[in-house]
Amino acid sequence: MTEYEFTCPECGQEIEVNDNMRKAIVTNGCPVCTAAASEDEFATLTE
Ligand SMILES: [Zn+2]
Repeated sequence: MTEYEFTCPECGQEIEVNDNMRKAIVTNGCPVCTAAASEDEFATLTE
């Protein structure tokens, strides 16, 4: 279930994620380039 869109400030990759994935990215960094990410990099998607 997609809830957020992550845009990496480092590599520019855009990834649609759910809440668990969002927490994982904040903890572990960008899944593409491993740059540190904060919750500010996530946009909430509305449907
Ligand atoms: Zn990245």
